[in-house]
Amino acid sequence: MIVKMFKEWRFDHVEDLHQCNGVCPCGKKAIRYKHHIQNRFTKEMTHVGSKCIELFGRNMKIIRRVAETLLGDGFTGTCKMIKNKFAQFSVCGNSIIVKHESELKKYFNKFPITKKSGKCIVDVKLSCRSDRRKLKVGEKFKIWAQMKVKRNNNLELEIQDVDKKRNTRRPSAFGNVYIKK
Ligand SMILES: [Zn+2]
Repeated sequence: MIVKMFKEWRFDHVEDLHQCNGVCPCGKKAIRYKHHIQNRFTKEMTHVGSKCIELFGRNMKIIRRVAETLLGDGFTGTCKMIKNKFAQFSVCGNSIIVKHESELKKYFNKFPITKKSGKCIVDVKLSCRSDRRKLKVGEKFKIWAQMKVKRNNNLELEIQDVDKKRNTRRPSAFGNVYIKK
């Protein structure tokens, strides 16, 4: 019965509060990442913390880890292309998203990674929060991206912040509230 109840909910996206001040509906405090979930039947949205999201299916442990890492720690990539609302980055094999690619591909219809002549290319959506003027083709960047699962079960990554790789400092907007794990 309880398992059935958990199956009614799908992972939607993760939100980084940048400080551990969130509360899970179960009462757990000091939550940094809010995992937003949606009821498949009623379409109701709610959120749970990092511990509780793992109760929502065997695949949630890995989804949670990748989503929190991509958003909280970010990943490094060389900008290959900027087109319309998307940017493409070439990432190295030990990037968390590449490492767990085959596992994540089992759970989603579409996954934003392609392999081109041995290189892994990640498609990332530009959001209004990501300043595309900062991006330049051919240069290396640190990208903080939000992992979103669309209703058709396609996985999408959306840039929340970018910074030049040589400058690994957290962008000043978050500077004073960013807590390092
Ligand atoms: Zn909880």
